[in-house]
Amino acid sequence: MSQIIKIMMGLWGFVFLAACQPSESEVTQALVPAEDDVLQQFLDLNATLENTAFRILTANVTDCPETGPEVGLRIHTIFDFPEDMRKEARTRLSIGPRPFVRHVIPDSPAEKAGLKTGDEILSIGEIDMIEGDRSRLFYEVVSRGEWTTGTTQITFKRGQETDSVQLTPLNACAYPVQLFFADMINAYTDGEEIWVTTELVNTIDAEESLAMIIAHELAHATEGHIFKTPTKAFELDADRLGMKYILAAGYDGQLALAQWSANPLNHKSQIEDTHPVFEERWRAIDKALQDFGQE
Ligand SMILES: [Zn+2]
Repeated sequence: MSQIIKIMMGLWGFVFLAACQPSESEVTQALVPAEDDVLQQFLDLNATLENTAFRILTANVTDCPETGPEVGLRIHTIFDFPEDMRKEARTRLSIGPRPFVRHVIPDSPAEKAGLKTGDEILSIGEIDMIEGDRSRLFYEVVSRGEWTTGTTQITFKRGQETDSVQLTPLNACAYPVQLFFADMINAYTDGEEIWVTTELVNTIDAEESLAMIIAHELAHATEGHIFKTPTKAFELDADRLGMKYILAAGYDGQLALAQWSANPLNHKSQIEDTHPVFEERWRAIDKALQDFGQE
């Protein structure tokens, strides 16, 4: 088993992925990370996905039935890694049994407050972080509560220095976008969370393309499509709203459509007849670009 599979399974367990847009991957090979930089590759894929998702989720709160506080901070502990990788993780990432900052999303409250990758989180508000294999869960529970109270003080350690900053969360669409290990190009939503495969993020050519995919899935979630019988109309609706969402996030819609058109996967005839053909989808996206691009 490759190391990246083990990390993914260690972090999130194994989840079966249903297909929104079934496609056999014929344009790319399965992700086979070079063993020596698997850690960096894992961090990079997560960061790419999280940065793009953050822009879309924070720019479209008025369209999202579910919203919540977001500070743009992602953390990990040594226990997130499989046992045989902990030594390497400890050495290369300088992390331990308490929550450490894995990634700070650009333009987020955490970045503006000055937090950096590698900072060790000591306390959130009045609550001290714990050490051990439950420390990440503890962080998640505490932070979820504290972010809803408005501005919160974070105390952290950087090298030998201890410091504190104030974090004021943004409001964001509450549909977490997660990386999922799979060697097929796919994205999926269960209506509450959005999953994007490692293979998709790994093979994406530009941020606009990834933004389109996340926004399409977000539209399925915000519109509640998942709880109804799928129809071709839902797919066109998700394409249309997807364009609206990426425009709101400041992406270049023209470029996104050009990249979408150039992707051979979008030209394939789909397996299920609920999925519209290329021309129909192109028209829906182009119409949305005209409609929402003017605002
Ligand atoms: Zn879809």
